[in-house]
Amino acid sequence: MPRVLNPVISYRGQAYGVRVREGLLRDPPEIVQGQLQVPLTQHQQSQGMKSLQRKLISWYQSEALTILSEKSRYYADCISERFIEVKIGLYRSKWGSCSSKRILAYHWPLIMAPDRVIDYVVIHEVCHLAHLNHSKDFWRKVASLMPDYLTYQTWLKRHGGALQRLPFCVT
Ligand SMILES: [Zn+2]
Repeated sequence: MPRVLNPVISYRGQAYGVRVREGLLRDPPEIVQGQLQVPLTQHQQSQGMKSLQRKLISWYQSEALTILSEKSRYYADCISERFIEVKIGLYRSKWGSCSSKRILAYHWPLIMAPDRVIDYVVIHEVCHLAHLNHSKDFWRKVASLMPDYLTYQTWLKRHGGALQRLPFCVT
């Protein structure tokens, strides 16, 4: 039987109840009428929370890669910069990074944060393509793309810790 689990998960700043339904191994979770429907095989359902967590994490990771790549492309175009690649990982101590080799990397749980917060992190890293430091010129560039970036920087400082605790891992 499908069931709604508590607590809810967060995705791009919105809360969704999780509903497990019968499905194939390769079926991706999808948002339907404000609920995240997660298809699990009968075997996976018999394994309980572990299977659900695994499926949710791989969904978050693939969404993070898609959305962070799109946003990076968009904002890099805005300032006429190019990058080589977008990577995602579990970095814990940082939300994103930009290497001298022009590789952008993001902490995938960022995908749980509100969209403007995600945008701020992407803008921050993309602006490092132009300035590999936190100079005045760097912050001026950030502000040119997001004049109210301080609001989202503050949000991350206040609420970022909560994003580190994956809500669906709570039993
Ligand atoms: Zn930085």
